[in-house]
Amino acid sequence: MAFGNTKWIWMNGKFVPWHEATFHVSAHALHYGSGVFEGVRCYETANGPAVFRLDDHLARLYASAAVYGIEIPAEPEELAEATCELISLNGFSSCYVRHISFYGSDSLALHPGNCPVQVAILAWPWGSLLGAAATSGVRITVSPWLKFHSQMMPTRAKACGQYLNSILAVRDAVARGYHEALLLNSQGHIAEGSSENLFVVCDGRIFTNDERDSILLGITRDSVIEIARDLGYDVETQTLHLEDLLNADEAFFTGTAAEIAPVSEVDGKPIGNGLAGRITTQIRNAFVAAVAGFDRRYEHWLTPVEQTAEVVI
Ligand code: PMP
Repeated sequence: MAFGNTKWIWMNGKFVPWHEATFHVSAHALHYGSGVFEGVRCYETANGPAVFRLDDHLARLYASAAVYGIEIPAEPEELAEATCELISLNGFSSCYVRHISFYGSDSLALHPGNCPVQVAILAWPWGSLLGAAATSGVRITVSPWLKFHSQMMPTRAKACGQYLNSILAVRDAVARGYHEALLLNSQGHIAEGSSENLFVVCDGRIFTNDERDSILLGITRDSVIEIARDLGYDVETQTLHLEDLLNADEAFFTGTAAEIAPVSEVDGKPIGNGLAGRITTQIRNAFVAAVAGFDRRYEHWLTPVEQTAEVVI
């Protein structure tokens, strides 16, 4: 089981053993997806584990919650502190962290009414989402499922139920032998992968889309824009058409779970020479240096995890 090494979960202000971290089957969120979440990574550095862009992820969590009227029963500072303690208690040097806040059990009317808001943090060791393809190249397919328009559901929010759209797309892609799906939006422009943003490289310039094309504004995306500009590249945000991707020299996905992964082909058509491109590799190396604390310019993105001695239950 992926979570086999996780001993402790943080739940509503307390650390509880893994098997005690349960909620009732009548929870509103289980029936309707009425929750919000974050995916964050903690990386090993020379000074111990450090959480990458924790404050930015928590800011997005609270922004997502605000859209759905979810009043998270904890301050961001408390969640930040609990995140670090949880990683330390579990003894992880690197891991993935999931924050979730959702409507619990009171009523199953669609309006969540008095359903109590729950909040929890889970951490577990997790390698790159795309496995070996993250190095050799991700084979993607244009999904028959469209990304929902941001007026249907707020694509800038990371809400549980919104992910059924991504699940349909990735299941279809995998069933047809691809690693990942690429979703177009209702205007036929490129939106994003099931859980990644897309960048294309053309004639040494880098392009990505933005919220106008119904994407989640990824924190990895934002980091890559800054890193690429620091490397001297011109990065432009504009609508991306499928032809832009098919004619690109290089393309890559970004996301917390997927990290930076070259896209090698789209529906059987190679992108560039079908291998990880030079600029993609350069950006990826710079990203790896940033998250591992080797590049001082990005130190402010890292929250060090202090060692916690004991659990306060
Ligand atoms: N798009 C979607 C739909 C996602 O779920 C994710 C993963 N959170 C991303 C993009 C990338 O966002 P981030 O870099 O913040 O993980």
